[in-house]
Amino acid sequence: MFKPTEQFAHELDQQDQLKQFKNEFYIKDDHIYLDGNSLGLMSKRAEQSLHHVTEAWKNDAIGGWVSGEYPWFYLSEDLGKQVSSLVGGKPEEVVVTGSTTSNLHQLVSTFYQPKGNKTKILADELNFPSDIYALQSQLKLHGYDPDEHLVRVKSRDGRTIDEDDLINAMTDDVALIILPTVLYRSGQLLNIEKLTKAAHERNILIGFDGCHSVGVIPHHFHEAGVDFAYWCHYKYVNSGPGGVAGLFVHENHFDKTPGLTGWFGSNKEKQFDMEHTFTPALDAGAYQIGTPHVLSVAPLIGSLELFEEAGIEQIRAKSLHATAYLMYLVEKYLLEYGFTIGNPKEDERRGGHVCLEHDEAASVCKALKDYNVTPDFRAPNVIRLAPVAFYVSYHDVYRTVQILKEIMEKKVYKQYKNERDVIA
Ligand SMILES: *Cc1c(COP(=O)(O)O)cnc(C)c1O
Repeated sequence: MFKPTEQFAHELDQQDQLKQFKNEFYIKDDHIYLDGNSLGLMSKRAEQSLHHVTEAWKNDAIGGWVSGEYPWFYLSEDLGKQVSSLVGGKPEEVVVTGSTTSNLHQLVSTFYQPKGNKTKILADELNFPSDIYALQSQLKLHGYDPDEHLVRVKSRDGRTIDEDDLINAMTDDVALIILPTVLYRSGQLLNIEKLTKAAHERNILIGFDGCHSVGVIPHHFHEAGVDFAYWCHYKYVNSGPGGVAGLFVHENHFDKTPGLTGWFGSNKEKQFDMEHTFTPALDAGAYQIGTPHVLSVAPLIGSLELFEEAGIEQIRAKSLHATAYLMYLVEKYLLEYGFTIGNPKEDERRGGHVCLEHDEAASVCKALKDYNVTPDFRAPNVIRLAPVAFYVSYHDVYRTVQILKEIMEKKVYKQYKNERDVIA
């Protein structure tokens, strides 16, 4: 059990098996960074691997595609193999490519095959806007009205989605389901196994957006039978702004040709034959389109070394412990100031961040920044706080709550406008 004292925070840090990883990251002295769920911090390893790739460009030019430590021609597949251990895919089921949204377009172009009255796509009303925009445009490309054919399951409490409501919405007219693993605002973790099983019993394909879980929660996409998944690496995987994303396609679907084809999806032996007949790779590599964005992949090389050293199970264990500790301190010190915890509290239902709700959330976030604490604001009333296992200590969590208490007690937040800035 936890104790509310500062001494106890130090004790937790002493016992922390991952504490040495903080030295691997660039973080300013006296700063606490709780926004790794939006953009992970830069690690020294990521900086080194980026540097390594720019040097290869400088020194080897075109030769960099096939020579050197990380030949660019194979990089997307090689890194896909490494990322597969984070998501529980077979090595050939994962590739590093594209962006979250472009991968969703690619996967929907492949797996959405409306037939007869089976034409609908099922999502949820709390889904991330970009995913919804992609689904709306995909329906339009097929000549369907998104208002009618995109079904968004309602939330009962404005924060979470009930799995039974999702399952009840899996009706005969649904062709495809797209859901987040973890909801970006409340941090609810959906039961992927249960939803996948229910979808398949009803002969519906299901894909997951893993943006808010990959790098903080171990997944078992292959074993669960998930048809496909896609995610970014710039949040919990710390691969840098706009870092290249990832996708998983279950091997059961390796007989399919991707909906959007391009030469980098070719069988690698055939690609430079330059034929006008496409010969796809026989694995997830087929879902690539054009030339990989090598400079935006490069930091991932170094970042993944840290995941191999720490282990995703250990990362999840620390993350759960740190979010539990944060919730404990919030309940101890902050409830009297009008804060509510908006995320599910059970371990198996929450992701890597705590969702604090407050009517003055925007001004509280601005005040926190002036105390050198970086939170994340989501309108209208959510403060997301992610104690990332690699670089947030238990004492950082303790200090954050004490700073929040001071901001409320002394009404510091009243000096700021309760409005969002451009990004957060
Ligand atoms: C961050 C995030 C995105 C972002 O998509 P990009 O194509 O990388 O800009 C999409 N969906 C979810 C759920 C996210 O959390």
